[in-house]
Amino acid sequence: MKAITLHGVADVRVQEHADPRIQEPTDALVRITTSAICGSDLHYYHGRFPNVEPGIVLGHEFVGEVVEVGAEVRGFRPGDRVVAPFSISCGRCEACKERLPAQCQTTNRAVFGGRFGRQYPGAQASFIRVPFADFMFERVPAGMPDEQAIFLGDILATGYFCAENGGIRPGDQVAVVGCGPVGLLAIQSAQLFGPARVFAVDRVEYRLALAEAFGAVPVDASRADPVAAIRAETGGRGVPVAMECVGHASALETALGLVKAGGTVSVVGVYAEAAFPFPISQAFFGDLTFKIGICNARNYITRLLPLVQAGRLAPTRIVSHVMGLAEGPRGYRIFDRKEERAIKVLLKP
Ligand code: NAD
Ligand code: ZN
Repeated sequence: MKAITLHGVADVRVQEHADPRIQEPTDALVRITTSAICGSDLHYYHGRFPNVEPGIVLGHEFVGEVVEVGAEVRGFRPGDRVVAPFSISCGRCEACKERLPAQCQTTNRAVFGGRFGRQYPGAQASFIRVPFADFMFERVPAGMPDEQAIFLGDILATGYFCAENGGIRPGDQVAVVGCGPVGLLAIQSAQLFGPARVFAVDRVEYRLALAEAFGAVPVDASRADPVAAIRAETGGRGVPVAMECVGHASALETALGLVKAGGTVSVVGVYAEAAFPFPISQAFFGDLTFKIGICNARNYITRLLPLVQAGRLAPTRIVSHVMGLAEGPRGYRIFDRKEERAIKVLLKP
């Protein structure tokens, strides 16, 4: 089969790769109909996670059709259209039972197309092996296009998780730092909690324009200091909820700067570094609450699906490019460099 593989910094290639096979009776094989490039894939592309083995198949967002199931898979059969979360969980260990599937003890917190725990091949390919299919899969409702279902397994769940962790109450003013795919879906999710105003911070004009179309007040950090701008709009006090959807020191600093005393900073941006300078006295004297973590996306798929069906969440609006798998390296390049107004790139094998 064809797959997108990683070979070094900014070096992704479309290569022939062995077809996956059923290895365990709880596995299923999926023919991928749509996959995508995530901001998390860019961390590998930038060499921020140097422990992945060269040649790994990247990608962890997909929708596809089941083509084969192992002997113990009960709930799914060939022909079913499915979506799955980005992290691989058994559904049976203590962590999974505590509703922390991304902390799965059986897979040691594995993800598709990455290496936290064991390395599993990813979804930017024609086929993927999905372990623990009965727990992992959600059936895609008949008539729902791939584009509407695919983000449930990662960035829509993550955007919602970020808003939920923020503890937004009706009437709150909130700020979202970073208007990439995750930030944009965090804005849509924040709107479900009834905020009075959502400020959206980025440096990229066309991403801010989409944030504005989602009802946010755009704050261009390339033109003005976003902390000063948002404090000026909030009587000098800042906002009770700041959502960090970037994963860089500059964005964390902005989020901590914008939040008012007693407020919450909710972080979903990925930090690869083992330790990090953190303004702990600012957090202490500001009575801040700090929430951070990998999204337990499996927990959100079933709950968010009806909101997508009802149009209350409109994830397809962030799709900027749909291309063949063979064009994947170009997809990475434009998404990384923010060329061609790229926001979310979908790949069709
Ligand atoms: P992205 O790289 O497209 O988006 C990042 C955006 O932040 C860009 O638009 C960029 O211009 C902007 N930005 C950079 N520095 C900034 C700053 N200082 N202030 C304001 N804006 C700034 O990626 P994405 O797909 O939207 O993903 C965002 C983050 O979410 C990544 O770190 C990704 O790994 C992470 N993520 C986390 C989870 C999770 O489970 N917690 C799941 C999915 C993605
Ligand atoms: Zn992702």
